[in-house]
This record gives sequence, structure tokens and C-alpha cells, in this order.
Amino acid sequence: MVDERLALDRRRCDRARVARDARYDGRFFSGVLTTRIYCRPTCPVKPAKSRNVVFFPTAAAAERAGFRPCLRCRPEAAPGTPAWRGAGATVSRALRLIERGFLDDGKSVEALAEALGVTPCHLRRLFVRHAGASPRAVAATRRVQRAKTLVDTTALAMWAIAFAAGFGSIRRFNAAFRALYRRPPSALRRARRATASSRSRRPHASHR
Ligand SMILES: [Zn+2]
Repeated sequence: MVDERLALDRRRCDRARVARDARYDGRFFSGVLTTRIYCRPTCPVKPAKSRNVVFFPTAAAAERAGFRPCLRCRPEAAPGTPAWRGAGATVSRALRLIERGFLDDGKSVEALAEALGVTPCHLRRLFVRHAGASPRAVAATRRVQRAKTLVDTTALAMWAIAFAAGFGSIRRFNAAFRALYRRPPSALRRARRATASSRSRRPHASHR
């Protein structure tokens, strides 16, 4: 019960953000209004001024509000969100099903609600309250996050990443990726290689 409120307590979030407190990693994300980028509390980039920062309980909520993931602290690599523990068994079970791809293969939120023994309305309410986003938005964020992790950590072909991450087609994968990162996944892989090779020369590179 404390967890969710903790994650949304602005002053505590901001203290954790400025201190780069690793204990809060995964508990909230901070969005910078001037750049429209969202970060983990542990982001290595110089913290933005507090008045320009807003907080979200999940990555899906930040994206729903129009923020893009930071390419430095990589929100997709944040640990599972303990804040969700306070959300109860239904949300936890829903998350596990979404994580296993329940909403990736054409099944509806209605089917998810039925599998959980609640009404679709109730399920949506629970998600909005605890995650700041609908089950479908959470599933969409997780798909792109899985893909981004594979882009970053493997040499897999893009088509293989698309299917491994739960996208029904390459076209959808590219569209979702472009919508969020404003560039195709292949460009991100090239950018990462370039950054890795020039990091020693530019230790204070900022957000991109
Ligand atoms: Zn960041």
C-alpha cells in the first residue's frame, strides 16, 4: 500500500532522482518537460531542474504522456516495478500474462479480464490507478522494451527481433519503434556502436 504512494510522492521522488538513489530504480520514472525524455532515477545525465520534472509510476505512463525513453539510462533495463506489488493479485497476474505475451497474439483486454475473473472495466480501472496506463498500453510498452533490449544486447537481425519481442509483423515493429524513438531500430544500433567507440572522448555527452 505504501509502495504506490511512495512512487508518486513528488518530493521523495525528486530527492531520489537528484541523489541518483539506486533503491528507487524501477519504482518511478522522471520525465523532463523541456526535452520530453523520461529517465530512471539512476540516470548518469546531469539531473534537470526540479521545476521541469514530472514523475510516472511506469514507463508506459510516461510514454502515454508523450515522453520518449532516454538512450543513456535505458528505462527498458530498469528492474521490475515494486510499486506494482501494492496493486494486488489481479494486477500481478495480469502483468505476468502480459509479460508472457497474452495481448501480443491478437487476444483482447476482454479475454485477459475473463482469464482473471474480473470485468474489463474493473481491470482497466486497476491498471490506470496503479500503472497510469491501460493493459494494452502496458503491453505495447513491454513489446518495444523487449525489442530495444534485443537491439542493444544481441546481433540478431531486425526481423528476428520483431518476432521474438512479440510483434505480429516487421511493419508493426518498425512503426512502433519509430513512433517512440523517432528513428528506425537499425539507426539506434548504429548510434549505440558509435557512442560506445567515442565514449572515452565524450564522457559528458548529454541526452540525445
Ligand atoms: Zn536518462
